[in-house]
Amino acid sequence: MFDNLSDKLDKALHNLKGHGQITEINVAETIKEVRRALLDADVNFKIAKQFTNKVKEKALGQNVLTTLQPGQLMVKIVKDELTELMGGDAEGVNLSGTPSVVLMSGLQGSGKTTFSGKLANFLKTKKTKKPLLVACDVYRPAAVDQLHVVGDQISVDVYSDKGNTDPVAIAQAGIAHAKANGHNIVIIDTAGRLAVDEAMMTEISNIHKAIQPQETLFVVDAMTGQDAVNTAKAFNDVLDFDGVILTKLDGDTRGGAAISIKSVVNKPIKFIGTGEKMDAIDVFYPNRMADRILG
Ligand code: GDP
Repeated sequence: MFDNLSDKLDKALHNLKGHGQITEINVAETIKEVRRALLDADVNFKIAKQFTNKVKEKALGQNVLTTLQPGQLMVKIVKDELTELMGGDAEGVNLSGTPSVVLMSGLQGSGKTTFSGKLANFLKTKKTKKPLLVACDVYRPAAVDQLHVVGDQISVDVYSDKGNTDPVAIAQAGIAHAKANGHNIVIIDTAGRLAVDEAMMTEISNIHKAIQPQETLFVVDAMTGQDAVNTAKAFNDVLDFDGVILTKLDGDTRGGAAISIKSVVNKPIKFIGTGEKMDAIDVFYPNRMADRILG
């Protein structure tokens, strides 16, 4: 994960260690390299600039020039800023409803169906909940079948209604089914499209308004970099979602999405997907991610 970014940041920061006497020029040079590393990782230009300005301010404020170990102090400053940028403290999923309804949104292929299963499995084992999965993709019968396969794998019930072409009605019937059968969590998987379009946004917005979920999650493929950030913005404008799920972090991602998304939509990343299997899910901890990025 983020190998390239980690290498570059490591190099940028450790250059400072080699100098006998640290000068303002060394610090400026390091900061420039940090910015370059972020841009190469597909972090938005404005965010990279703000980030390095903050690092510079802190470095000067904490007298990095006169400290005994300037390299280490810079690593700490960059790490703290990365943690802050990615979201501060970890935040959980709101499970206050009876049942609690979680709505998944995102493009086709982002990993919604897979993550719906992972979340159901996670809540079932970690929090002894009784989830129900609801299939609201009325366009692709294969998507409904896929959710059933996922449900079977983790022994979680799935509600679907293949003849029904109204996703709002299916979502509502799914919630009623949950109430009638003692499920305390309802996870609603929805249809995505390959790119943001009006019909998809209207549909997800209608479902959202009708069922008023406790938690609306936006699922996005981390490998799509800046596109991930733009898609997040489009969905957030319509749904004002509660959190982001970054999938496919096991792949060869450059890290831009993980670093930029929080500050663009101002919503926390709540979970990450790290593989295709049902247990490849992790709660997102910004400080741990910053540790990983800095190697
Ligand atoms: P949906 O169209 O949004 O429901 O996306 P799917 O859940 O069908 O996922 C699309 C593809 O991505 C499938 O082949 C999944 O197995 C794969 N996938 C989902 N999450 C992850 C992940 O975290 N890591 C990897 N490597 N693959 C994933």
